[in-house]
Amino acid sequence: MDPPARWTKCGTCEKQIAIDAEACPACGAVNKYVHPCVARFIEELARFGEMPRFTVTHDKFLVVGLMENPKTTKSLKTMHIGSVIALAAIVLCCVDFALAVTVMLIATAFCAFGQIRGGVDTNTNLRFQADFSSGTLRWFSDDDKLWAPVKAFFTEADQAMEAAKR
Ligand SMILES: [Zn+2]
Repeated sequence: MDPPARWTKCGTCEKQIAIDAEACPACGAVNKYVHPCVARFIEELARFGEMPRFTVTHDKFLVVGLMENPKTTKSLKTMHIGSVIALAAIVLCCVDFALAVTVMLIATAFCAFGQIRGGVDTNTNLRFQADFSSGTLRWFSDDDKLWAPVKAFFTEADQAMEAAKR
């Protein structure tokens, strides 16, 4: 048996059209349907202001979020500090050679540590995906701890919708 068809009203002629139709078969108007959980998330984006900044793209059923990997940013900062210390060591060469060598070692340690930390996670962005194309939430993320508030939002919105159907 086919799953129950899911319908919405055309915004122009008000005829019933399938929610996943590109356009209304009767009048040709673009189908502006967006899944309620997607629409709510876009409306309430401001509530995630406490999280590190991320960009969001969406269509009718799918929301994708991308965030710059904080580990990459941190490791770049560490390496930056390392290069500043190295510069100080070069200046110190004229004053005290032994001290300059020590400072240079510290600089190397900073750079190496930054490299190790950044190397664990390559420079890829962190991502989540909330997919409602099957009618209910399909969640994917590469860091559930980081995206926990977003996941909680979608899970809650999805459960509320499921409860409303019953
Ligand atoms: Zn229409």
